[in-house]
Amino acid sequence: MGLFTPALHRQRHQFVIDFVKRKKPKKVLDLGCCECVLLKQLKFHREIELLVGLDIDGVQVKKKMHGLAPISTDYLQPSYDQLRIELYQGSVTEKDARLRGFDLVTSIELIEHLTLADVELFSEVVFGYLTPEAVIVSTPNSDFNPFLPGLVGFRHSDHKFEWTRAEFKSWAMKVCLQYGYEVELTGVGQAPPGQQERVGFCSQIGVFHRLGGKERYNMFDEDAEDVFSYTLLYSIIYPSLHDNNILRRVLMCEVVYWAEKLKRRWIAEETGERDDTYDLCQAEGEGGECFRASERHVDTEETQTAACGAEMKTLVDQEEGDGELFWTPSQPDSDKWRRRVSVPLAVLWCCCPKVSLLSGSVSNLRLLLMDEPRVKLSQDGSAVLLNHQEQDLDDDDEEEHRADFEDSGYAEARQCPPSAEPAEDWEANV
Ligand code: SAH
Repeated sequence: MGLFTPALHRQRHQFVIDFVKRKKPKKVLDLGCCECVLLKQLKFHREIELLVGLDIDGVQVKKKMHGLAPISTDYLQPSYDQLRIELYQGSVTEKDARLRGFDLVTSIELIEHLTLADVELFSEVVFGYLTPEAVIVSTPNSDFNPFLPGLVGFRHSDHKFEWTRAEFKSWAMKVCLQYGYEVELTGVGQAPPGQQERVGFCSQIGVFHRLGGKERYNMFDEDAEDVFSYTLLYSIIYPSLHDNNILRRVLMCEVVYWAEKLKRRWIAEETGERDDTYDLCQAEGEGGECFRASERHVDTEETQTAACGAEMKTLVDQEEGDGELFWTPSQPDSDKWRRRVSVPLAVLWCCCPKVSLLSGSVSNLRLLLMDEPRVKLSQDGSAVLLNHQEQDLDDDDEEEHRADFEDSGYAEARQCPPSAEPAEDWEANV
């Protein structure tokens, strides 16, 4: 078992995640992202709209980067939140305009891999050029090293230095003065009881905040030429309901599903045939309050259907009064009678919370459905027309559904297994 529970690298990442939960940054950049372990956790924090990783070692990044791809639920239940993930190969000692103006930049166990001359460049690039609102820098605290069992020299063979708390503080204060930041010094990995004061945390962390807020960024280098020195390795845009095509697809699924459900409910009422949904409605919600938008979160699907059924009937009666087509036998189709059921959009809108949420208003719903080949609207556009029997769906329609599904990217959705995380040398040895 390691010296720390949870393991130290987990505690460092958790520190960042707790910060993200508190401050809700929209644009986050992880410097020295390596195999994207931290990024893979951050992508679940959907306040983040842009998540970027940078590492000098493209081979490490490419190893596990596909684990950042959306998983099937991201496609099946797209979120309103937007998320773009980008990975770059490049050095923190070089500037690139695409990484400016972030809300948070993290540099977890990176600076000790740089020469001191490169640390100077790092400071200039990160604090002087990228000018993020907040920066989290973690690095080993060498005051703590005597407590690490079996450690000889540095904690990792590639470390160029390991700073005491005083050295880290002196660098941090200089950065603050030079580039207009303030810093809070803290850390993770508690010392043994009674020793914390004397040696501090195993990993020391500086949390920097830019003074002067957002305005300061705009003052910087406005006229400077844009530099692009990094190579883009990976870029993915998560499905979001902000994308009109995705919104329509999700809305369509809901409309088709609910229209069919309401149709069955109505048919059961008209014909006295047994309908499972209806039975459930009777058991759970009939006679109860009619479904209202404000109560959507507490209604079960069944009670909604029951209430909608009642409401639909009312609307239907009114429409019938106006001579509107409803439950009408159409022309005999060879030896089979085909009938159509009309489900008013107003009913769909008020019965199905997701439909109302996605469309916003009945007129919007009509607009969104108008050019939709999978949905037939009545002539005045006020209702969805359904065949009486579901199997009336013809072969062409089925082909279309299949093509839609294949187009939608479901085929590409996959989930990569969780990756093993890199251990520091001394952690591997104890
Ligand atoms: N941040 C990760 C990995 C730390 S290891 C974690 O928390 O686990 C340090 C990483 O910094 C390595 O992946 C290394 O390739 C990268 N690195 C080293 N020098 C760099 C430089 N000049 N620019 C960008 N990344 C660098």
